[in-house]
Amino acid sequence: MSKTKQRLDSSLSGILQWLTEREDEMVASVREMVVRESPTHDKEAGDKLCSHLADEFARLGGQIKIHQQRTAGNHLQVNFAGASSRQPLLLLGHFDTVHDLGTLRTMPWREHRGRLYGPGVFDMKSGIVQMMFALWALHETAEGLPRPVIVLLVSDEEQGSSSSRRITEKLAQRCAAVLVCEPSGPGGALKTARKGVGGFRLKVTGHAAHSGLDFEKGHSAILELAHQVRALSGLTDLKRGITLNVGVIRGGTRTNVIAAEAIAEVDLRVARKSDGAVMERRVRRLRAVNPNCTLHIEGGINRPPLERTKHVAALFEKAREVARELGFKLNEITVGGGSDGNFTAGIGIPTLDGLGAVGDGAHASHEHVIASELPRRAALLAGLIGAIE
Ligand SMILES: [Zn+2]
Repeated sequence: MSKTKQRLDSSLSGILQWLTEREDEMVASVREMVVRESPTHDKEAGDKLCSHLADEFARLGGQIKIHQQRTAGNHLQVNFAGASSRQPLLLLGHFDTVHDLGTLRTMPWREHRGRLYGPGVFDMKSGIVQMMFALWALHETAEGLPRPVIVLLVSDEEQGSSSSRRITEKLAQRCAAVLVCEPSGPGGALKTARKGVGGFRLKVTGHAAHSGLDFEKGHSAILELAHQVRALSGLTDLKRGITLNVGVIRGGTRTNVIAAEAIAEVDLRVARKSDGAVMERRVRRLRAVNPNCTLHIEGGINRPPLERTKHVAALFEKAREVARELGFKLNEITVGGGSDGNFTAGIGIPTLDGLGAVGDGAHASHEHVIASELPRRAALLAGLIGAIE
């Protein structure tokens, strides 16, 4: 990135113009990230991208702190100084993707009709580039950053954020609000509510027997699991936004053996925090229909829901005002999927999600972003950094 010496007009329109002139540089930056593949839990690949990002953010005047991890990929924290009378904001994101190493061979970086394609381009490498350019633009204004900003980019979001969760929550605690640059919803909508996510593993132990010689001595774990699958699925309450999906079952060994063991893996989603605890209790309370079978249940809520509290609604209102000033209309949506924003909302820090790129196909082979939206989304972020009290 080459830096201009001339000071930038700090009005929103000035910032937008400055960013629009740099659309090609933004695209080049996205490309630099996409060609560095970074599947979750590939420490070597993740760490390489982490240090590339550290260099980029250091060039913008950020103070780098790498949270070294032994097995997971390292996490990147960047502190930007700003008008210190104001509470900092946390810009949150992740640089891991769901795509395995080598995906670039079948899903190469490609620009086509104003769209950028490649693994992780939408979820959420372009979102990170938008953060970078928003901070750069603010840095170039005569006043500099209107407040301190902390950037946290983690390496393990796509698999539950087990090694980064504590860091995320600790940093959020110091901040007035959290802005999550995960992909936007359709048409660029922000995400003002996300469901909480949980998981359970139910293991049924029965009693094996020969299905011909000793049928009556056996107690089928598979039959018992079938009862439990119905019971679990019966806990779904669509009106309250509670869903249970038994997504995986395993069990048995041969057709002529009564199964001694069967396992179900279950995904739970809740719209309200209080329902998380209720559902944990209900699942744990399941009892075997056949008293000769035993159930072993583990798991629970992993990410609490991001609820549309009045603080979240107020943040969205601010974003809408900034968008209006930039000349576009911003919508909001509720989604079933979780992000690290669920953690920060869960500890009571106002969190606005979906501020990342405009595009489609997260986690899929047609994953892409719209290049011409990059400057505008970065301007929205820059404007919000100043507008939030
Ligand atoms: Zn994501």
